[in-house]
Amino acid sequence: MLNAEQVKDDSWREELNHKYGWMAGRHGLSFEHGGGWRFLIGDLLQRIGATLSDEEKLDFQVTQIKEKFGTLRCYVFNGNDRIHALVDAAESASEITCDVCAGRGRLRNSGWISVRCDEHVDYRG
Ligand SMILES: [Zn+2]
Repeated sequence: MLNAEQVKDDSWREELNHKYGWMAGRHGLSFEHGGGWRFLIGDLLQRIGATLSDEEKLDFQVTQIKEKFGTLRCYVFNGNDRIHALVDAAESASEITCDVCAGRGRLRNSGWISVRCDEHVDYRG
């Protein structure tokens, strides 16, 4: 779980782009979700990269990573079955991962829908 200082630290976006930016177009990866999912995404991108051959890497692209209806959505171009299974697993994991602190959360609706732990129910970043 992330502490309050880590929650405010946005450097994970740059770090993930440094490692996995090659999966996106020339504008790099953008992460349209909270920092609590940084590990989930990092793990997903690492696993995706590991499934691809050098040749497959040339034609593969992560087109969008975002939150939708409270949970993670990751869209890819030219994914294979293994990649789609990895994406499904990450999207499922997001349903129980607080998007603020990475702690155990659940889907809440308090005016807006998000996955939050008890501590971050009303958190607005
Ligand atoms: Zn939390």
